[in-house]
Amino acid sequence: MPDMTAPASADVLIAGGGPSGLAAAAELSLHGIGCVLIEPRQQVSHRRPRAKTTSIRTMEHLRRWGLAEQLRAAAPLKVAWSQRVIFCRSLSGPRITEFDGAFGLTTERDSRFAESGQQVPQPVVEQVLRAHLAERPGVDLRFGHAATALAQEDDRVTVTVRAPDGTEYLLHAPYVLGCDGAGGVVRDQIGARYVGRSDPRPNFNVVFRAPGLDTHLGPAVQYWVVGGPTTGLIGRLDLAGTWWAIMPGVEAGYGAAHASELITGLIGAPAEHEVLATDPWTARMLIADRFGQGRVFLVGESAHVNPPWGGHGFNTSVGDAVNIAWKIAAVLRGWAPPELLASYSAERRGVVEQTVASAESNMRSLAGDLTADEAAIQRAKRPEFHSLGLVLGYSYAGSPVIQPSGCRDPSGSGEPSAGGELSADTTSYVPAADPGARLPHAWNADGSSLYDRLGTGFTLVGPVRGHRAGQCEELAGRARERGIPLTVCQPPDGYPWRDEFLLVRPDQHIAWRAADPACIDLDLVTGRTESP
Ligand SMILES: Cc1cc2nc3c(=O)[nH]c(=O)nc-3n(C[C@H](O)[C@H](O)[C@H](O)COP(=O)(O)OP(=O)(O)OC[C@H]3O[C@@H](n4cnc5c(N)ncnc54)[C@H](O)[C@@H]3O)c2cc1C
Repeated sequence: MPDMTAPASADVLIAGGGPSGLAAAAELSLHGIGCVLIEPRQQVSHRRPRAKTTSIRTMEHLRRWGLAEQLRAAAPLKVAWSQRVIFCRSLSGPRITEFDGAFGLTTERDSRFAESGQQVPQPVVEQVLRAHLAERPGVDLRFGHAATALAQEDDRVTVTVRAPDGTEYLLHAPYVLGCDGAGGVVRDQIGARYVGRSDPRPNFNVVFRAPGLDTHLGPAVQYWVVGGPTTGLIGRLDLAGTWWAIMPGVEAGYGAAHASELITGLIGAPAEHEVLATDPWTARMLIADRFGQGRVFLVGESAHVNPPWGGHGFNTSVGDAVNIAWKIAAVLRGWAPPELLASYSAERRGVVEQTVASAESNMRSLAGDLTADEAAIQRAKRPEFHSLGLVLGYSYAGSPVIQPSGCRDPSGSGEPSAGGELSADTTSYVPAADPGARLPHAWNADGSSLYDRLGTGFTLVGPVRGHRAGQCEELAGRARERGIPLTVCQPPDGYPWRDEFLLVRPDQHIAWRAADPACIDLDLVTGRTESP
């Protein structure tokens, strides 16, 4: 077996090049860390679109990587085209009700976020990320290769990789990210297992071409067909005649034999079409009993699977990837100890549990369960299409690297963290600057985002100019001693927390909130239990 050692710049091996693997590579690259990414699929498959909802939060991460505009340009359905979900008897039948501004789609500037959501098929997102990574120094993309086994030693992990010609070789890396999805090998290799359950009902997806198909209902990102003999969801993948449909309750055999009939039922009238692909699937609510072991971490669907209702699976996977990747980068760059990495599971498990619970709750009223009752649909489905509380309101309060509740601020004016648990209201988001929360967003006077002024390391946001500059310099000096990259940033006029100091992490979450930067504990927020 040849022993191909990874290039020196490849400090992390990523098994899996779906959304979580590609996002992890992008985040590592933002911090100047290279990687080898192993992915069996040479090409992405447009006939298996899977996720279509890119959330506000994922779009904000894409903005950090400089890719938000590229993704919007590549997306076949522009936000201005539609921000609506319509419920109807069929594409040709009467409208029942609708949800506007669904999935964070808006063309208006909103002070609460830097980017609106975007509807875009998952393969397009993957293509944009693949193209970006192909240009990044130190990123080694190995499409056609698959991980088959791994072994951990004290200082490195050795992964056995199968090349496209079937030969196997070894790669070594200090850290491995298992981004290889539900069917990958890394979870088993570290002895982790999924805990949870499956929904007994089958689901059947179809992708079809119907260039002549249109609807009197007007543009919508999803049409829910309810209250009739054929029920399900249908929508456009592009404006050139490619459509998708999901039919809950339809078994694989029946769906394959009757796909055209089912499509015609959703349309409500005969329409010329060609079935391009079918995909049966079952909704699962699964969370791994551990998110890592030693130098190996599970990211995205290798760690958790949730039903697609609400569109959170891919977005939660990207959130995982960002969380572990900036921490590994900090450790490899030498400004945080390996203990920081233990906070990955502590921070992400709660988010994942809430996401799975929300998706399962959305699954209680599928298309076949709903009647053509406008009020009942509005009551049942609102949390599925308006979930800003879940998308932006999650918190890492309670994490070992977030300011503990009961602030150590000697001035006594810092408030104790209100966090420690995730917001129970998944629909609405009220910006809060409690430690653990995502930094409340604001627009600067020049039209840029407050987020655009944050550094790639930590950022002190607050009254950093004028008579308090000395206080900030003291913190900056302590950061320099520890090699922690620290940027300072004055928030715009009118920012509700502009008189306080918010220490913001690379992932835009607040690590510490203080009246005086002197009380900020840089060791705690970087996972250092003992002072250097
Ligand atoms: C019908 C449907 C609709 C969905 N809609 C949405 C939505 O609207 N919004 C949303 O957020 N989510 C949605 N999802 C979920 C979303 O598709 C997943 O959450 C997402 O793909 C998870 O990304 P991942 O990278 O963790 O895993 P995957 O996308 O599964 O990627 C894993 C990768 O690992 C590779 N791999 C497998 N084995 C190996 C190996 N041995 N070595 C190396 N690589 C390996 C695979 O080829 C694959 O590319 C939907 C899912 C389905 C089924």
